[in-house]
Amino acid sequence: METVDIFIKNASELITMDGPNRPRIKKEMCELSIIENGSVAIKNGKIVETGNDLEYGAEKTIDASGKTVMPGFIDPHTHLVFAGSREFELDMKLKGLSYMEILKKGGGIFYTVNETRKATNEELLKQSKKRLDIMISHGTTTCEAKSGYGLDAETELKMLEIQKKLNDIHPMDIVSTFLGAHAIPKEHSADDYVDIIISEMLPQVKGLAMFCDVFCEKGVFTIDQSRRILEAGKKYGLIPKIHADEIVDTGGASLAAEIGAISADHLLMSSDKGINEMARKGVIGVMLPGTPFSLMQDNYAPARKMIDSGVPIALATDLNPNCWVENMQFMIQLGCFNMKMTPAEAVTAATFNAACAIGVNDTVGSLEEGKKADVIILGCPNHKSIPYHFGVNLVETVIKNGKII
Ligand SMILES: [Zn+2]
Repeated sequence: METVDIFIKNASELITMDGPNRPRIKKEMCELSIIENGSVAIKNGKIVETGNDLEYGAEKTIDASGKTVMPGFIDPHTHLVFAGSREFELDMKLKGLSYMEILKKGGGIFYTVNETRKATNEELLKQSKKRLDIMISHGTTTCEAKSGYGLDAETELKMLEIQKKLNDIHPMDIVSTFLGAHAIPKEHSADDYVDIIISEMLPQVKGLAMFCDVFCEKGVFTIDQSRRILEAGKKYGLIPKIHADEIVDTGGASLAAEIGAISADHLLMSSDKGINEMARKGVIGVMLPGTPFSLMQDNYAPARKMIDSGVPIALATDLNPNCWVENMQFMIQLGCFNMKMTPAEAVTAATFNAACAIGVNDTVGSLEEGKKADVIILGCPNHKSIPYHFGVNLVETVIKNGKII
């Protein structure tokens, strides 16, 4: 009998996500490739085999009777690195002040920018590492992380360097995005700052980020400014992403389709035209339901309509000081309860499609032979229980790169 490092057996539901290696759309989002009474063999950090009548000797055998075994969650949109916290804003939020009003009162992003500019590398590293620990204990094994709390060349690069360092020292795999265009710093006009991003920052980002992102929104970066930045990013090999149509419909979804973005994120207010253009171009819609939840809004992104229109959908936390959540299980719950996604669609959105949204679907996002052994074991019998049994951490075991965390 062949011997492996870890052999998981008897899983009541083994979700492999086996399927085409491209974003899953429409009905495909319901197909989780579930093996009942499933087993997974892991060796040298990789998946060797999945099935339901496997026999392997192993250094460690795990009996997953009554449990769900699945790929680790992928969180494709986080603002992982920041300093300070903004719980003082809660009272303002409860009084009904909008994000833009809180911004004008000295809260919001500029508070975090000040704290992040002041923080030493050690402080940023320590605070961010703690967030990664919470993420991984809740089953996230790969995440994206954005710069964007520097808004000057020095701090933006400092954030990207810290993300690189965290990727080296922490078991989490981190994919970096340059988001110099997160807000317009008070010391510059919008057009001047766009010039600084293009001429000063982007040339230095090479090797430190895979994606370039823009906060395209009324009062922040216009469609034209966003296009300029994302086109310039492309020249440095950075794949476009976009924060689009969160507060008002500015045509961000259409820009994502036009420019060939890998994903457009938020999309609460996107027009039918924008949604259809995204579907046609295969732009992934990243849903961030934690944001309207923490802003106490009633409206969420139209995930149901997008899935039915053929937009591949992913879920992410949007972890940031305005939406402080590390837990992808909670995003699955919000996806089902507040966006009418089915449990199966939400699982696809939190694993395989999320991997596609950050370009890592060749190596993670499903449990297929040769892929990274990023596997989680949940103390519930099936995927429907993930939204059903909410408000607790269902993840009992995390295996990252073939090692039990
Ligand atoms: Zn964001």
